[in-house]
Amino acid sequence: MGWVSANKDIISLLIALLAILVSLSTALINVRNLRTSSFIAIQKEMLTGEMQRGRLLVYRAIATGDAPPRDSDEEYLMVRSLAVFDQLGMLSRQWIVPRRWVLRYWHPRLQLLKHGFGIEPDPDRPYILQGRPNLQYLIEHAERYRCADSCCADGRKEGRLRVPPRLHQAGRPDDATPGE
Ligand SMILES: [Zn+2]
Repeated sequence: MGWVSANKDIISLLIALLAILVSLSTALINVRNLRTSSFIAIQKEMLTGEMQRGRLLVYRAIATGDAPPRDSDEEYLMVRSLAVFDQLGMLSRQWIVPRRWVLRYWHPRLQLLKHGFGIEPDPDRPYILQGRPNLQYLIEHAERYRCADSCCADGRKEGRLRVPPRLHQAGRPDDATPGE
């Protein structure tokens, strides 16, 4: 008992420190749980059939130039899927969902978007694209993302980042005739 009363102050300090550590770790666990459930919620939205179809239209338009007609349902689907992708970027920028998880899951698709969004900017309808700063943020990170999985093996990553032949050919006349 003599030791306890002699070290009373140190013991109360240690107990106080322990209490701080416990509440800090509880707070960290809560933040992690919150980020996990936010990630699952946005993933659920990203993976609906509608969003998937919209994105497939975007990838096809980038690769082939085959874009849906103006004001068609398919064009709206493309725009909506890009808006939700942009929302994923915003949540990741604001630390609401972990960027590491977003990139791990989405980096192959984001790398494809390096070559535009499949819809040409239209001065008559600037609202239809209006830039996608949060999506652009994810695309830039996806370009630098290091991945050792099969999605990026055997030159697949480089293949996705390479300019599609369609765009390459479109740019060739300018490249070939400097000064004209
Ligand atoms: Zn990969």
